[in-house]
Amino acid sequence: MATIAFIGLGNMGGGMAANLCNAGHSVRAFDLSEAAVSRAVDAGATAAASIAAAVDGVDAVITMLPAGPHVLSVYFDADGVSAHAPSSAILIDCSTIAVTDAREFVAQAEAAGFAAVDAPVSGGTAAADAGTLTFMVGGADDAFAKAQPLLANMGANVFHAGAPGNGQVAKVANNMLLGISMIATSEAFNLAEQLGLPADKFFEISSKASGQCWSMTSYCPAPGPVPASPANRDYEPGFTVAMMLKDLNLARDAATAAGADTAFGEQARQFYEALAEKGQEGKDFSVAMREIQSRN
Ligand code: NAD
Repeated sequence: MATIAFIGLGNMGGGMAANLCNAGHSVRAFDLSEAAVSRAVDAGATAAASIAAAVDGVDAVITMLPAGPHVLSVYFDADGVSAHAPSSAILIDCSTIAVTDAREFVAQAEAAGFAAVDAPVSGGTAAADAGTLTFMVGGADDAFAKAQPLLANMGANVFHAGAPGNGQVAKVANNMLLGISMIATSEAFNLAEQLGLPADKFFEISSKASGQCWSMTSYCPAPGPVPASPANRDYEPGFTVAMMLKDLNLARDAATAAGADTAFGEQARQFYEALAEKGQEGKDFSVAMREIQSRN
């Protein structure tokens, strides 16, 4: 069993740290929020008063933070992880951050003598709590080999996407596809209903035809066909419009840097940006359906 520093114990990190405790690891919890730390302590972790105290002598450091600047600061500030962790520790960042920041994180970590991976996740807080996340990992083979058993304690799937940053590449491309497909699915259900075909009947047919996709069969934006989807609880999240907008902004930046055409991704980004500006940022992103219906 390993000794692990877990930094960033919010909506996602809290459940992930609890699953590491349940797997028998010794988890040290550090977060700027006392409430987040005390929830982790309730789940079996030990509170750490500082990053230095959290990472002293550990086998691994795992971070689950809001964005790239938080990650780079937690690892590389003067009093950060790299100044205090043993160089034998594997550094694992699970946050969703820019591809460029992820590559910077691994490069700086390796320059300081650490093995490191970017390991963003697919699956929301329910998957974090249940230990069924999908991890997309970028990093060298030996770094992946060190990270994999710990990630397996928190997830159902652990994929090695290749070189450093490729975990974030997989994440940003996947979520751009999801953002577009949710809007497309909403348009299709709205069109069917406007033409007199009820949602349940359209679902029955299209879920077995070529329009089938995850946005339809697992997360249907029309109320009814998928009882567990947010559409059946007034679009309470789930995965918020704000989070989708964050990921589509990352996709836009990555596409610009790579010179890749993502015209539909950009249209989707503008769609969710407009929803956020209308005060819908805290709703589930499948509220796309209601927005499209409001334009009938
Ligand atoms: P959150 O805001 O609930 O948690 C982030 C935590 O980091 C907070 O507890 C905050 O206090 C802490 N923190 C911030 N700066 C810190 C610092 N310098 N030192 C220590 N702690 C610090 O966010 P979340 O929903 O748990 O998301 C975390 C990451 O996971 C984000 O990058 C997000 O994009 C990604 N993600 C979230 C979801 C989701 O459904 N919530 C799904 C997939 C990926």
